[in-house]
Amino acid sequence: MSSETVPSSPIIYTHTDEAPLLATYSFLPIVQAYAAQAGVPVETRDISLAGRILAAFADRLPEDQRTPDALAELGALAKRPEANIIKLPNVSASIPQLKAAVAELQQHGFDLPPYPDEARTDEERDARARYDSVKGSAVNPVLREGNSDRRAPESVKAYARKHPHSMGAWTADSRTNVATMADGDFRHSEQSVVMGADDTLRIEHVAEDGTVTVLKESVPVLAGEVVDATRMDVEALREFITEQIARAQADDVLFSVHLKATMMKVSDPIIFGHVVEMFFPEVFQEYGAQLRAAGISPNDGLGALMAAADALPDGEAIREAVKQRLAQGPALAMVDSDKGITNLHVPSDVIVDASMPAMIRTSGHMWGPDGQEADTLAVIPDSSYSGIYQVVIDDCRKNGAFDPATMGSVPNVGLMAQAAEEYGSHDKTFEIAAAGTVRVVDGSGVALIEHEVNAGDIWRACQTKDVPIRDWVKLAVTRARATGDPAIFWLDADRAHDANLIAKVEEYLPEHDTDGLDIRILTPVEATQVSIDRIRQGLNTISVTGNVLRDYNTDLFPILELGTSAKMLSVVPLINGGGLFETGAGGSAPKHVQQLVKENYLRWDSLGEFLALAASFEHYAGATGNERAQVLADTLDRATGTFLKENKSPARRVGSIDNRGSHFYLALYWAQELAAQSEDAGLASAFASLAATLAENEQTITGELIGVQGRPADVGGYYRPDDELASAVMRPSATFNEALASLG
Ligand code: NAP
Ligand code: MG
Repeated sequence: MSSETVPSSPIIYTHTDEAPLLATYSFLPIVQAYAAQAGVPVETRDISLAGRILAAFADRLPEDQRTPDALAELGALAKRPEANIIKLPNVSASIPQLKAAVAELQQHGFDLPPYPDEARTDEERDARARYDSVKGSAVNPVLREGNSDRRAPESVKAYARKHPHSMGAWTADSRTNVATMADGDFRHSEQSVVMGADDTLRIEHVAEDGTVTVLKESVPVLAGEVVDATRMDVEALREFITEQIARAQADDVLFSVHLKATMMKVSDPIIFGHVVEMFFPEVFQEYGAQLRAAGISPNDGLGALMAAADALPDGEAIREAVKQRLAQGPALAMVDSDKGITNLHVPSDVIVDASMPAMIRTSGHMWGPDGQEADTLAVIPDSSYSGIYQVVIDDCRKNGAFDPATMGSVPNVGLMAQAAEEYGSHDKTFEIAAAGTVRVVDGSGVALIEHEVNAGDIWRACQTKDVPIRDWVKLAVTRARATGDPAIFWLDADRAHDANLIAKVEEYLPEHDTDGLDIRILTPVEATQVSIDRIRQGLNTISVTGNVLRDYNTDLFPILELGTSAKMLSVVPLINGGGLFETGAGGSAPKHVQQLVKENYLRWDSLGEFLALAASFEHYAGATGNERAQVLADTLDRATGTFLKENKSPARRVGSIDNRGSHFYLALYWAQELAAQSEDAGLASAFASLAATLAENEQTITGELIGVQGRPADVGGYYRPDDELASAVMRPSATFNEALASLG
């Protein structure tokens, strides 16, 4: 343990949304009770969507309704060496989700303005700006002051090999494919520059008549920073979509589009809107003006359109036209065929990083309107990263499904610190108003990047600072050294941005001892092929990627290897020495909340929280010199091993233990490990009687936990549950609660 210590700060356990939030009501009391025995303070901060909305309007709410801006506080903390933050998944809100959250808060008595779809007055512009700061991917870029190290710990991999999840079989005649643009998309229009000095850039649009409109006044950049810009030619996009609709029809497969409308909150809803429009051209030709006048945008999806149609003069005719078009085909892939929710209903329902692996795991199928699985044409308009999925699909067609009992692993070292790469780009993404040029101009007035654009094109820029790139290269070498596995940088010399990154990787690699290590640079398509060839031989290959592929790969490979990305260890070594511990690599599992409300059963698996917590205690011990924190870490690690061996993760059905039962078992095994360890006699005796009580009452406690299932549960709100109600629902075992309280 290092003798150098940093100022101490509590461990911050974030209060987020949906399933992980509900799980927190059960798990956090256990964590706080155990940690208190070791003198480790664990506090929470509310960074939920509802909490962030309230914080954004704090100055307009009465005193007793004011919520501090916890996200800003944690953002500042992440830059300090004492940071130790456990980050649970949170909602990246689409506009429909944001509106739903606002409506719920209004119902709870918070006097919030409506979300203005079109801001006309100063007041509406102000409200719109506040809401826009909350929507989409508003949390992770603030906290991620480091690059990411995501992997399946050995114990988790061993568990998956022993209990392989089911994988749909693949056949050679599968007609599933990816469709992607060959020209005019973001990938093919990319330009990239490396800044020679610190500077401030300006983004401006020059109309054909010479009128200059500033799109973004000031973009501060640092020497060595990579700045990229690109555009989506919307004419080309619309043509492409029309072709793919025809192709799906001709191939007799489902039509599906896969985007990231949550994170890419400006560009992807627009792309989604074009798909909706091109799928229903007659509807928009006939009724477009009426829909527009009523404030209905195709970007919000078919669901919003159908819901709003009722109130329109031609509502009945619109519904009929939609129905007719759907009947003509191609059949749309469905999100929920029972409820008639299609792939085009809600922009955030089909999120490419989760939807593509789910499809690959299910024999390359999605669900059709008839409720049957079927082959699909997966439309991923931008070709920057879509190629990796085609490689996996072709490989499965040739070699069959992967075998979780024998397959190797693809951990990830991802570049994301300081909002590196695309996900931070929404403040530099624009839907272009008129034909002309968009240019990025430096402080001396020189245009560094220029694109010709047409009205409706989507133009966007993104930044990647040099310090994170250097740190990323170092992290890659560290992981390659620690494991002995090959590390592949997924970079494509044909892309302007990647070419600049390759030059930097080649510059920074020699700063490290790479003797005997296998470090390569391959295009994403080549890297995918090498990695899956090795996976089939049971071998591991570290993927060292940019931010987007970090997101994609840490769903793709874990979903194939482990059945879910929730079982990942997800560490973010912060550049200034602190630690950010993300729980798993999945999201907040909205479907799980529906099940809890319907039948008081929460199938959320908190394994990601267990893994993150152990890593956080270990970091705390190292940073503060508190040796008891190390005992907590070691015992939790062993308890998690037992938890996996005993297979105590939540089942999926009423009548077996769910999330709450899994927490009980973790608490039992952890108390037993603490009681049995010999490092710290005081801690051992503190946990001896709890371990005995929990073991003796196992039947009673699981009985109490299972007994409440099968009936609806009321937690008092979706986006902002009522603390008391949610606690009562999530802690229904009086015996367990009393035992925990007796720890004192
Ligand atoms: P998701 O929440 O990961 O859910 C997809 C499915 O993954 C779930 O329905 C569930 O499958 C499974 N799953 C994920 N985590 C699980 C866990 N801990 N235990 C058991 N099963 C788990 O992905 P999504 O639906 O694409 O995204 C939902 C929301 O999360 C969105 O608002 C998104 O923006 C946000 N998100 C946040 C983060 C983050 O904060 N780091 C990351 C990704 C997404 P079954 O239903 O089959 O059980
Ligand atoms: Mg993801």
